[in-house]
Amino acid sequence: TPMTLHERLAHCAGEFGERPMVITDDRTVTYADVEAWTERLADGLVALGVRPGDRVGLVMANYVEFVPLKFAISRAGAIAIPFNYLYRTDELRYVLEQSEANLLITMTGFAGLDHLGMLDEIAPGWDRGEQDALPELRGVVTLSTDGRSRDGVGSVEDLEQLGREHPGGSAGRGAGPGDVADILYTSGTTGSPKGVLITHDASQRTGYASALTRAFEDGRRILFSLPCYHMFGYVEGLMAAMMVGGAIVPQTAFDPGRYLEGIERHRATDILCVPTMTVAILEHPDLATRDLSSLRAILSGAAPAPVWLWEKVRDTLGVDEIVTGYGMTEQGGAMTLSLPEDPFERLSATVGRVKLAGAAGLPGSGDLTEYRTIDVMTGEPLPTGEEGELAARGPTNMLGFYGKPEETARALDDEGWVRSGDLGYLTEDRYVVLTGRSKELYKSGGELVMPKEVEEVLSRHPGVSQAFAVGVADDRWGEIGVACVVPKAGAAVTADDLVALCREQLARFKVPRRVVFLEATDLPTTPTGKVQKFRLARMVAEQGA
Ligand code: ATP
Ligand code: MG
Repeated sequence: TPMTLHERLAHCAGEFGERPMVITDDRTVTYADVEAWTERLADGLVALGVRPGDRVGLVMANYVEFVPLKFAISRAGAIAIPFNYLYRTDELRYVLEQSEANLLITMTGFAGLDHLGMLDEIAPGWDRGEQDALPELRGVVTLSTDGRSRDGVGSVEDLEQLGREHPGGSAGRGAGPGDVADILYTSGTTGSPKGVLITHDASQRTGYASALTRAFEDGRRILFSLPCYHMFGYVEGLMAAMMVGGAIVPQTAFDPGRYLEGIERHRATDILCVPTMTVAILEHPDLATRDLSSLRAILSGAAPAPVWLWEKVRDTLGVDEIVTGYGMTEQGGAMTLSLPEDPFERLSATVGRVKLAGAAGLPGSGDLTEYRTIDVMTGEPLPTGEEGELAARGPTNMLGFYGKPEETARALDDEGWVRSGDLGYLTEDRYVVLTGRSKELYKSGGELVMPKEVEEVLSRHPGVSQAFAVGVADDRWGEIGVACVVPKAGAAVTADDLVALCREQLARFKVPRRVVFLEATDLPTTPTGKVQKFRLARMVAEQGA
C-alpha cells in the first residue's frame, strides 16, 4: 500500500528495527534509531513553527543527519527541498528565491564552502531575523561539521532538544502518499534548474522497482558518495536499500581511495558510480590490496560507458552484477535498468530495459508505468524502433515544476505523459537507445541536425579529446552548426582537418560551418560536471564568426 515517507520509515523500523540503516566511519544507526531521531527532529520542527505544506530547504552533504532530517520534514507535514550543496552564491540565491523556502537547514564548514557567508550576501541580516531579500524565509538551522557556529543560529542538536521539550507535536500531521514530498532541482544542464514536484509514493516506487528488477536479497549495503539531493543517490541508494532492510554507506565526497577503504571496512555489497568515478577507482593503487570480497554489484548511470570499462570492472573488482540505467528527476528516477545477464556490448549500446512491467508499482497497487517515443514536433506516438522523444506515464511522474507553469505545460501533457527532452528509440524487447537531447537539436538550412552524429565523427579524429556540436543563430541559415573541440594535449589538429573529416562522413547540411578550439577548463558545466551546451552555444555566438 502507498505510504508517506515517514510512514514507510515507521514500517521499516517495525520490520527491521535493530538492523543498521546508515553506516559511516564514525557511527552506525539502526532503523529504530533513525525512527526515534526522526520523531525528535519532527517535533522540533513543529515547535519551531513549521506548518503543514511549508517548504524546508536542506543544504546537506551525505552526513548521517541527512536521513532523519529528510524523514522529519515529511513527518512534520512539510515539503523537503534538498538543494545541491555545491551551489555557489548566485546558484543558491536562484533556488532559494525560486523555491520560496520557509526554513533552511544548512551546514557550516563543508569542503571549504561557506554557506552562512553566502546567506550573508543573499539575505543580509538573516541571522538577526531582519532580512527582506527572501520574504518567505523565516528561519535557519545549521549542522556544524567543523565545530564552528554562529551566535543566535540554532543547530540541529538544538532542534532535537526542542523536540524533546515538546514531544508529540508532529504526530498525525503528515500529508498523503500522493502529495508532494520533495522539490528536487534538476541539474540545470539545458537551462536554469527546475524544481520538480515529487510525491511521497513516487520515490519509494522507483526504489522498490530497482530492488525488484535487480532481485535484491535482504540486507544489501550500498556505498555511494553521489549526493542524496539527487535522484541517483536518494532513490538508488536510500530508497532501494530501505525496501529490503539494507543499509546505506554514504560518503560526503568522492575519493576513490575512500571508496575502496569503505567497501572493505563496512563490507559493502553495492557501489553507485558514474563512469568517471569507476575509472578513478580502477586506476587507484589501493585496488590490489583492499579486500573487496563483499562487493556484489556496481550500478553505473548518468552517462554512457565503453565496453572496455565493463570488462575491467568484471576482471578487477570481481563483481558479478554490473548494471547501468537511465532516468531523470521529472520521471521520478531511473526508468530503465540493464539486467545482470546483459552482454557488455548491450550495456554500452543501450541504457537498459524499461523497468519490469508493473515493477514501478508497489505490491497491490497495480499501477504501471508506460513508456514510448513521440514525435518531437507533433507529440504523436511513434512505432517501436523509430527515433523520437522518450516519454513516460505512470505513478512515479512528477506533478509539475514548482512555480513554472509554462515549463510544466511543455513537459507534462494533458494525458499525463512526461516528455523527457531526451531523444532515442525503443527496441522490440524494450531496451532504450539514447541518441541525444531534443533541446540540443538544431536546424541548419531547414534540416534538423543531431549533434551526437556530428560529435561522433569529430571524436574519430585522433587529435580530439572532446567534441560538442551546437547550433548558433545565423542570419542566412537560421542556425548554423559550430563544432567546439577540445584537442588532446600536444595534438596537431586544425579546423580544416575536422571539416574535411565531416565532409567525408556526413551529409552536407550536417558539416559544421565553424570550428572553435577550447580548453577543457573553458567548458561551462553544472556544479556536478555536466557540460551545458546552451551556455557553450551562447559563448561561441558571442565570439562571432
Ligand atoms: P536540466 O533538466 O536542468 O537541463 P538534467 O536533465 O541534466 O538538467 P537531471 O534530471 O539530473 O537533470 O538529469 C537527467 C538527464 O541526464 C536525462 O534527461 C539524460 O539526458 C541524462 N542521463 C541520465 N542517465 C543517462 C545515461 N545513462 N546515459 C546518458 N545520459 C543520461
Ligand atoms: Mg532535464
